[in-house]
Amino acid sequence: NLQDKLDKAFHVLKGHGQISEVNVAETVKEIRRALVDADVSYKIAKEVTGRIKEEALGQKVLTSLQPGQLMTKIVRDEIARLMGGSVAEMDLKSSPSVILMAGLQGSGKTTHSGKLANFLKRKKTKKPLLVACDVYRPAAINQLKVVGEQIGVEVYSEEGNNNPVSIATNAVAHAKANGFNVVIVDTAGRLAIDQAMMTEIRDVHAAIKPDETLFVVDSMTGQDAVNTAKAFNDVLDYEGVILTKLDGDTRGGAALTIRTVVEKPIKFIGTGEKMDALDVFYPERMADRILGMGDVVSLVERAQEQFDEDEARRVQKKIASNKFDFNDFLGQIKQIKKMGNVKDLMGMIPGMGKMMKNIDIDDDAFKGVEAIIHSMTPAEREDPKLINGSRRQRIAKGSGKTIQDVNQLLKQFADMSKMMKMMQGGGGKKMANMMKG
Ligand code: GDP
Ligand code: MG
Repeated sequence: NLQDKLDKAFHVLKGHGQISEVNVAETVKEIRRALVDADVSYKIAKEVTGRIKEEALGQKVLTSLQPGQLMTKIVRDEIARLMGGSVAEMDLKSSPSVILMAGLQGSGKTTHSGKLANFLKRKKTKKPLLVACDVYRPAAINQLKVVGEQIGVEVYSEEGNNNPVSIATNAVAHAKANGFNVVIVDTAGRLAIDQAMMTEIRDVHAAIKPDETLFVVDSMTGQDAVNTAKAFNDVLDYEGVILTKLDGDTRGGAALTIRTVVEKPIKFIGTGEKMDALDVFYPERMADRILGMGDVVSLVERAQEQFDEDEARRVQKKIASNKFDFNDFLGQIKQIKKMGNVKDLMGMIPGMGKMMKNIDIDDDAFKGVEAIIHSMTPAEREDPKLINGSRRQRIAKGSGKTIQDVNQLLKQFADMSKMMKMMQGGGGKKMANMMKG
């Protein structure tokens, strides 16, 4: 997935030690490819990645300790922001409120009229009425009736009337007279955009003046979905979009493109044929889906919150100048403990992974080590070479550990320092491989 790709990309970059704007551009290209794979149009993907690049350079991704993770967060936030950032609710304050469903044939209008009625009915304060305005196929009216029966919502239809404008108008009057406070109007669609369909839906729209006109679109149609969204928006200036059939394996990138091209919020997504397969649209979740990274993002964020990057950078500098001492070591242990999942994070300290390999890692695992370091004087912590035999004895006593424990820690620390020194030198790659094992 994208996270892995980014981590890999930055790993390589760091290894070469030549991190530059050119490298960021390469990475951004990678992101662009991932977006296009997820059905985001090339043009939009290019715009998005342009912004991500700016943001990345602004937030100094290159100098951060975990550029892959910071980059992932930037990408996710940017995509969510472009999809509206927050949930877009329907405005159903008038009584009755009128919802008009528009879209091509097969997009899911009838199904989602039912789902929406079901969704509102569950809110208790809403009493919805479904209206059958697809007058061209007798089966269409039946389909809505079946749906209405399933969810226990009345369906308004007029046999013999083939004028959708008058049916819709009559239905609103019927709702007013009978205490329905939401009217959901299901309309006919064609397989492709044509003038007759556009004229008809525009006339219905003009007659009933809906509070919410929702454009229903099949997410599996990819880029075509965007063209259709635009054509309908030109005529109806709709309030929002329902993106259907997201239970398939589409990545949902059309959501980003539609949102960006028509500048209308996606309000709901359809995730199945059943009446409860309707979800409110959450931009962040869709961003995750587009990027295919699921829960990884929240992990990244947690790590980000708790990991003090300044401290980490300070320590790295000390490592680079060969001045890493027991105070730094203690600080690192504290950092690691703060982050919870210690095992994953051991790799951040060169040599540490190996050192702790045989210890079952939890907070207690550090207790002995910490006690020993705490029993050192500040001078000893800064310069472990000072710690001769009598000092070792004193430290052992003070920490309640054996002299062997102290010796072992000092030896391990010396090994670790040696390793860090080698890491700084030319043999970095070799060492890195060694430590993985
Ligand atoms: P309409 O022509 O726009 O009214 O579309 P329909 O509501 O009749 O839906 C067309 C087909 O798509 C039907 O077979 C529905 O069961 C199916 N469908 C609609 N929405 C979804 C969805 O979110 N997921 C899946 N898997 N199928 C859907
Ligand atoms: Mg239909």
